[in-house]
Amino acid sequence: MRREGGKFPQRRGRLDIGTRSPHLRPMTRPRLTILLAAPRGFCAGVVRAIDIVERALALYGAPVYVRHEIVHNKYVVDGLKAKGAIFVEELDQIPDGGRPVVFSAHGVPKSVPQAASARHMFQIDATCPLVTKVHMEAQRHHTEGLEIVLIGHRGHPEVIGTMGQLPAGAVRLIETAEDVAGLAVRDPRKLAYVTQTTLSVDDTRDVIAALQRRFPAIRGPFKDDICYATTNRQEAVKAIAGRIELLLVVGAPNSSNSKRLVEVGVRSGCPRGLLVQRGADLDWNALQGLSTIGITAGASAPEVLVNEIVDAFRAHYDVTVETVTLRDENVSFKLPRGLREGPASP
Ligand code: SF4
Repeated sequence: MRREGGKFPQRRGRLDIGTRSPHLRPMTRPRLTILLAAPRGFCAGVVRAIDIVERALALYGAPVYVRHEIVHNKYVVDGLKAKGAIFVEELDQIPDGGRPVVFSAHGVPKSVPQAASARHMFQIDATCPLVTKVHMEAQRHHTEGLEIVLIGHRGHPEVIGTMGQLPAGAVRLIETAEDVAGLAVRDPRKLAYVTQTTLSVDDTRDVIAALQRRFPAIRGPFKDDICYATTNRQEAVKAIAGRIELLLVVGAPNSSNSKRLVEVGVRSGCPRGLLVQRGADLDWNALQGLSTIGITAGASAPEVLVNEIVDAFRAHYDVTVETVTLRDENVSFKLPRGLREGPASP
């Protein structure tokens, strides 16, 4: 077993009495099997967004401004802050002066780059290419005269960004299958749908089915716009949900895909699901008597935090780790040209 004791304090009543008397054996810890779901953690869009900020810092020096959290993870954001990134919510928080401003992986409404251009800002777009694909779908439908239904979570930055690709009123937002009944559209024959990339695959299938029942002529993508990373992480959780007593999802409370993983785990047969950010957040009173748990991580959570959680369990249990791999991922996205090839002119 590695790192016994380590940086985590021994619990009261679990002192290693073998160190006090050579005649007594150490008290054994309960055994715990941890199933690590794979794939988990960083997706290609998150890797690219973080690389963009780091590359901008390397090329142009600090500060580099970032509009909104580049990805929804405090550990990642704090790490970039330490390197010289400054996070703001709106462009008017950025002083004039030609410093780069990066738009987050979630995408932004068109009004944001327009406002940045009006101020001659040096813009770098870290929108995930799979979000940009949804923007382009929505624009194509709009150009063809279709009204657009967006399935997504109200207030999420990606939804704000997708709605903001088109004029006000061009996109109707719905969140659930129940919302379909009350949906008022201009012409049911001229309708298309797009979806947020980080939704529950199963919920979205129900919403799309409800849309197709009520509006048989509605057009849409082949299935939905949920990205490969969201789909794979949800399927990997389903593969272990029936074997575990608890699912821990490493991720932030504002991370859509992380919250969906908790829901998917519980719906797929796991009795309990918890979202956790750091090892120090674990409530050991609620984590007694376990024999098999599962751990996964949202697309914006780095693997170092998964390791931290596993190590926290090692301080309380005799841990065996088993990785359950649903499929391998081999996706990567190129950096914007200016960052790939060297300094661009601000
Ligand atoms: S979760 Fe999917 S859409 Fe979002 S950044 Fe990752 S790959 Fe892109």
